[in-house]
Amino acid sequence: MNPLPTVTLVGAGPGDPELLTLKAVKALRRATVALVDDLVHPGVLRYLRRSARIVNVGKRGGCASTPQAFIHKLMVAEAKRGERVVRLKGGDPFVFGRGGEECDALRDAGIEVEVVSGLTAGIAGPASIGLPVTDRRYSRGVALVTGHAGSPEGDPDWDALARCGLTLVIYMGVSRAEAIAQALLQAGMAECTPVAVICRAHLPQQRQAVCTLATVADTLADADLVSPAVLVVGDVVQAAPLWQQRWPEAAARAASSLPGG
Ligand code: SAH
Repeated sequence: MNPLPTVTLVGAGPGDPELLTLKAVKALRRATVALVDDLVHPGVLRYLRRSARIVNVGKRGGCASTPQAFIHKLMVAEAKRGERVVRLKGGDPFVFGRGGEECDALRDAGIEVEVVSGLTAGIAGPASIGLPVTDRRYSRGVALVTGHAGSPEGDPDWDALARCGLTLVIYMGVSRAEAIAQALLQAGMAECTPVAVICRAHLPQQRQAVCTLATVADTLADADLVSPAVLVVGDVVQAAPLWQQRWPEAAARAASSLPGG
């Protein structure tokens, strides 16, 4: 028997409960207490045992939220009481999920932590529209960045990102999309740089659009594209069928200039 109390941080993936891993389902089945973020699909909770206690600790931007310190305290207290605690998060716990902070708080309190990775919205979201974020014909890699650092000093270095040649996947960025696009344009990114917006990925209400850096603001104003959403910026957006349908001639030109095209 494990002598130490343990908390399991579980990633639920974005949207659709079918994106749960088998390991996540096993952890849910074992849990006696679940602390649940609000991006977690309610359907995920059906894998908990009926007797499990569910505590909603969501913290969506702008809405009533549970202070992070309270969540830490609660996890520690429940684990020390002998509960089998699952901390359930949307996507992956370590991708803009405060998983690292929670691990530190738990370890500081003498509690072991197990992490069950989940599919992250920034990769599985684009994949839902056939957008392969690291397609080697277009890009050398991908940078996952926040569009909402919470403070100007914490903002990503848009200048450096504009020059890095990587696909940019921007989380928490819809409400600041116009400012982000401006920053990237000012840093020298071309106006015609392709952009995809994928909102509520893997949910029945999913919406998406493709545009360019110059038209991001107009596109978001016109379409029903609301948070949660990810923005993808970079040539790799041209690999998405939606882009090819919208601009078939440009897509054909781009395809012919690809390695092997
Ligand atoms: N840990 C999560 C990210 C949490 S930050 C993960 O790995 O996916 C919250 C941000 O994730 C949202 O603002 C949005 O940018 C993105 N996100 C989460 N779920 C999403 C979904 N179903 N569709 C699109 N974006 C999503």
